[in-house]
Amino acid sequence: MFIAGKKTFVLKSKTSKEVICPTCSAKNSTKVSIIGVYKHLIQIPFLSGGKYGISKCLNCNQHFEHQLMPDSIKLAYFELKETVKTPIWFYSGLIIIKTLVLIKIFSKYM
Ligand SMILES: [Zn+2]
Repeated sequence: MFIAGKKTFVLKSKTSKEVICPTCSAKNSTKVSIIGVYKHLIQIPFLSGGKYGISKCLNCNQHFEHQLMPDSIKLAYFELKETVKTPIWFYSGLIIIKTLVLIKIFSKYM
């Protein structure tokens, strides 16, 4: 049964103007995306599993995983990554549990 697992979510994408595609030499066609990974339990996001990047040329469809990116694309990826924060809803499950615990604690004094 599929209860817990990992899911991915595109946090941000940007087509970088400076990057020239190493395969087809097209300018302004490389789209860099930051992908967030989260661990979920019964479809509720629980924990952040980090981020990674991919790039895709919109002209020739050449794509790179972040380990294999040419330096120029890697630079655009790191720049974009700087602006991306892990969304708070990645921790929804933890927040719900913490809230429930707090309510339980407070209800003793009410
Ligand atoms: Zn290309």
